[in-house]
Amino acid sequence: MTATQDPPTVAIIGAGLAGTALALALLPHGIKPTIFESAGGFGTVGAGVIFGPNAARAMSLISPAAWKAFNTCLTRNRDASFWDTWFEFQDGRADATEAPWRLQRTGEKRDPAMASVHRAHFLAELAKQLPDDITQFRKTLTGLETSGGKSTLTFADGTTFEADLVIGCDGIKSRVREIMFSSQSPTAAPLPTYTGQIGYRALLPTSLVESILGPPAPNAALFRGPNGYIVTYPVSHGEQVNVVAAVKRPDISPGRDVMVLPDTHEALNAAFVNWRPEIRELLTHFPSADRWPLFDCPHGRRYVAPGGRVLLVGDAAHASTPHLGAGAGMAFEDAVILGNLLGDVVRGEGELEKAVEAYDAVRRVRTQGLIRRSREAAELHTTVGEGALPWDEVNRRTEALYRWAWEHDHEDELEKARKIMKGAYVRLDSI
Ligand SMILES: Cc1cc2nc3c(=O)[nH]c(=O)nc-3n(C[C@H](O)[C@H](O)[C@H](O)COP(=O)(O)OP(=O)(O)OC[C@H]3O[C@@H](n4cnc5c(N)ncnc54)[C@H](O)[C@@H]3O)c2cc1C
Repeated sequence: MTATQDPPTVAIIGAGLAGTALALALLPHGIKPTIFESAGGFGTVGAGVIFGPNAARAMSLISPAAWKAFNTCLTRNRDASFWDTWFEFQDGRADATEAPWRLQRTGEKRDPAMASVHRAHFLAELAKQLPDDITQFRKTLTGLETSGGKSTLTFADGTTFEADLVIGCDGIKSRVREIMFSSQSPTAAPLPTYTGQIGYRALLPTSLVESILGPPAPNAALFRGPNGYIVTYPVSHGEQVNVVAAVKRPDISPGRDVMVLPDTHEALNAAFVNWRPEIRELLTHFPSADRWPLFDCPHGRRYVAPGGRVLLVGDAAHASTPHLGAGAGMAFEDAVILGNLLGDVVRGEGELEKAVEAYDAVRRVRTQGLIRRSREAAELHTTVGEGALPWDEVNRRTEALYRWAWEHDHEDELEKARKIMKGAYVRLDSI
């Protein structure tokens, strides 16, 4: 017979997509975490986020509240002929020769092939589903000490908090990760790596984009070119188009603390000099030519500190490049697994330390796998032209990467995690 346990005191650091998703995943299991966020409110930089069927399914598994928030914000491709399409891949070169190719959906019919959201709107909707008293703002974690199964958190304002479990959802530059590894050795903490690519981003009115690009505007498209690629997809219920222009820039070395580098429209235009005229025209409408160096954080370290009382979720654990449109989706998958395992602990069906070990085992394989594949996708999105692989072969390889991301069996992963929690040997895929 199993005995239920008092829920652990859980502190979540960071109220981005990962922190809010995780809180929503814990609540149905009777665990009411406290979220500490350094900013003054729920807020996020960036414009659109696109989700594949795996992410949509994860949201439906987290809780009806998360599913509701998602459905309130989601935008699909406008035209019925694109409803089963993720992206239409096009040849972006001025002398384009390749025929457009559509990457089609997989998964249950209720999961949209392509679902995008306005990032800030979506975070606000997720936040609305949380109890009012759950989040503390202007709380920047500075210190963390763990002993005897309890962690004491220290914040920049001098206050402290004691928790049984500390979950770092504090993004790619995670302070929790830094502290977690500093006790092992000063150089043990995984650090963000510049991937040799930058991104320019804009949210533009759909009517404007449609007048320039024609039919691809209200439906997701990816234009391949030899030195970069451009993604366009609808957000805000079709009123706006999110445009990202990614460019290879291995020649620069932005510091890890750099989020945005100023640039000029001349430089942006020069990066796309041999591209189709309508694409170059589109770039002139970017309100800002600031560029975002693209970092990721591949590593072989565990997501859980020794002792199992401090762990990482979302970008804090596995920041990836955006080339497969799947980084945030992974945070929702994390929440499904961790929420259920911690629920098992509360129901007396597992131990806390073993639950977080099991989370680490299954999620590390999946999410480090994404980091690797996302880098591969960047190569494929820029493979076109003389001497490149044939277009059909690039399409085939591209499809394999996306299907790996989408065709994820959350229930199977949870079952494996539960077996690991109970001490069984489970064979996991390789990264
Ligand atoms: C250009 C670009 C485009 C992308 N597009 C997509 C896409 O289309 N689809 C997709 O799935 N993913 C995409 N991603 C990835 C996605 O943005 C991230 O995976 C996701 O936002 C990570 O969420 P997070 O909550 O883990 O981290 P964050 O969003 O970074 O949130 C971390 C939170 O922690 C807080 N915080 C930080 N330090 C502290 C501290 N010391 N104390 C307290 N609080 C703290 C921060 O203020 C912040 O609110 C993209 C990424 C980039 C760079």
